[in-house]
Amino acid sequence: MLLGLSKIMDCPGATVPFSTSVDLSDLQYGNSFPVTEPVTAQGQVRNTAGVLVMTGSVRTTIHGVCDRCATEFDREIEFPIDVVLVTELANEENEDEWVFPLEGDSADLDDIVRTVFVLNLDSKLLCKEDCQGLCCRCGKNLNDGPCSCQKELDPRFAALKQLLEK
Ligand SMILES: [Zn+2]
Ligand SMILES: [Zn+2]
Repeated sequence: MLLGLSKIMDCPGATVPFSTSVDLSDLQYGNSFPVTEPVTAQGQVRNTAGVLVMTGSVRTTIHGVCDRCATEFDREIEFPIDVVLVTELANEENEDEWVFPLEGDSADLDDIVRTVFVLNLDSKLLCKEDCQGLCCRCGKNLNDGPCSCQKELDPRFAALKQLLEK
């Protein structure tokens, strides 16, 4: 969706609200496509002393399989939008991933929402930030509590310990 901005282009202080929904179900994450629900975005574009600043948020519920504990999960996520819209991208040295070019007098909301979403996603898909994962020995999901595995001593250390005890 294109958001027309011609009416605030030359009008410092003016704002245009926006609200949209973008389909990112083609977004691949590892071997999965976790963004099965539409990604909604809302906020406003404000002409701040001649600079078009877009603020708002994107949100959705992702349905994935945790990279660490292999459990299926649903997780609501929300990312802030805080980007600058420019008529021309500055030269590469000043390039900033949070600056987007305008399409004529309009902002390409689909492109902005997709980019903000992708750049904010963590590199791992986790059921929760502090997922404990699985015990590498018994395979128990450590989010459900500690497992009964004892930390066995390395046999070399055990031998050394015996020597020291003598
Ligand atoms: Zn997990
Ligand atoms: Zn264990």
